[in-house]
Amino acid sequence: MSDRKSELAERAAKAKEDLAEAARRAGRAVEEVTLVAVSKLHPGSDIRALAQSGQMDFGENYVQEAAGKQEELADLDVNWHFIGGLQSNKAKFVSGKYALVHSVDSRKLAQALHKKASGLGVVQDILLQVNIAGEVQKSGITIENLSSLADEVMQMDGVRLVGLMTMPPFFDDPERARPVFSRLRQLKDTLEKQIGAKLPHLSMGMTGDFIPAVEEGATLVRIGTRIFGARPPRV
Ligand SMILES: *Cc1c(COP(=O)(O)O)cnc(C)c1O
Repeated sequence: MSDRKSELAERAAKAKEDLAEAARRAGRAVEEVTLVAVSKLHPGSDIRALAQSGQMDFGENYVQEAAGKQEELADLDVNWHFIGGLQSNKAKFVSGKYALVHSVDSRKLAQALHKKASGLGVVQDILLQVNIAGEVQKSGITIENLSSLADEVMQMDGVRLVGLMTMPPFFDDPERARPVFSRLRQLKDTLEKQIGAKLPHLSMGMTGDFIPAVEEGATLVRIGTRIFGARPPRV
């Protein structure tokens, strides 16, 4: 095994151990939580190496970069997750190409994903991203707008709403993010009653705060730095 390959396998295995421990502490089955390895700005060779050690889910943020990797790695049987901010005019490059789009935060974007998926004859699974702390610089819809956007999305048959995503403010102490995670779970429970359907997924938790996220019910954690190391700057 190359040095990089064994390094990545080891880092991912350690993150998974911590994740499993957090799940056990919360009385949850480890299998309920999927680790999405966030590979943005890291080379396709890292993804290939990690996939060979059994990592199946990868998260990307940038449309063009991700499309290049999908082409380069077309022979791999992995699940791609789109987790970054997405403009509706780029939705056509995303819809139908990802197992899950985590970052839907407007009617316009949902509509564009729906249209493209319908044209392809597929259904695109999506999450609604909620900006729980109301930070102005963060993407995501406000809690106030969640219920009406969910109703609208339920009318679009090219997309299927399967849950919620959030990104809390950065805290040095991950415990401070816990109330954000428990709030997202409450919002999901309320929304399930409103729409009369189950929402199986909560995408929450990153390198710095995935432990409380798993304890509060995350089904998808998005971990980059902990696995791949520091990201090179975006050029
Ligand atoms: C980059 C990114 C992550 C991964 O962040 P790390 O701190 O490196 O684990 C997770 N979620 C989103 C939305 C991101 O943009």
